[in-house]
Amino acid sequence: MIKNILTTLLILFAFISFSQDKIKVVSSASIFQDMAKNIGGDKIISESIVPIGGDPHTYTPKPSDVELVSSADLILINGLTFEGWINELIENSGTKAKVVLITEGVDPITSEKYHNASDPHAWMDASKGVQYAYNISAGLAAVDPDNALYYADNGARYSAEIKKVDQYIKTQIATIPKAQRILVTSHDAFQYYGKAYDITLNAIIGISTESEAQSKDVQRVVDAIRKSNIPAVFIESTINPKMLKQIASDTGVKIGGELYADSIGDEDSEAPTYLKMLTHNTDVIVNALTGTSIESTKIDADDTSNNLWIYIGLGAVMLLSLLFLVLKMNK
Ligand SMILES: [Zn+2]
Repeated sequence: MIKNILTTLLILFAFISFSQDKIKVVSSASIFQDMAKNIGGDKIISESIVPIGGDPHTYTPKPSDVELVSSADLILINGLTFEGWINELIENSGTKAKVVLITEGVDPITSEKYHNASDPHAWMDASKGVQYAYNISAGLAAVDPDNALYYADNGARYSAEIKKVDQYIKTQIATIPKAQRILVTSHDAFQYYGKAYDITLNAIIGISTESEAQSKDVQRVVDAIRKSNIPAVFIESTINPKMLKQIASDTGVKIGGELYADSIGDEDSEAPTYLKMLTHNTDVIVNALTGTSIESTKIDADDTSNNLWIYIGLGAVMLLSLLFLVLKMNK
């Protein structure tokens, strides 16, 4: 009995000291949470305020977020108008955590359409992702100097992986014929991607999802689709696809697939990490715009019902053949 109690206490103590030793890193969004996990490894606990699939542009902090932020050692934010709600949250929480702007040193794109506001989606250009990794690694070293070398090593290894993905995207996008290299999406999250990888953008709404789509925006996109003769448009994981589906059906183009821009996907998705999100987006775009093997059937519920009818049809044919055989043998 006493032995059992002692063992339980020992495990409990080990658990408490184990979790206390770790640096608590709280990121504004899941993409940065994943980056931090890659660099902080087993020295940190990496959390995100906006959950996977949530929209960081329009997020409203919950009471539990105040607790999360106040218990953090390090807070990672993108800035450039991405998470406009975060400064107030940090202030209200009274946290003593170090706050790191992970776009520090990134040369931002300014949106001409939105009166010189900075475009926040810099991570979509993998070469800029390297700067994110550097800032995260430096931030971790500042709050946990004993492990600075560990963070620097992981940061360098992770940066090498990001550079490989950067190269992959470049070679893949280059295979799309220039005239078809036009990306139509719901919100303008792909400016950095387009600039880095030489693909023209056309989004319905602006760099933030806060603004509503105007009918003139829809008309502009419809005109661009008709003029360019592109084969597909793309929906986004954090945005209601209704408008884009309407445009696709009006213009007779396909939904090329689902892209991830402001959030990674969950573990079972094709984009469970920042790097997989970038390669998945690229594969979906290349497949749809070159017209090869569009397999993103899970996007459209209609396709599933189409498959069902094919199976019913096949079943009926097999049944009839069997009946025919039985009748013939009985003769
Ligand atoms: Zn966005």
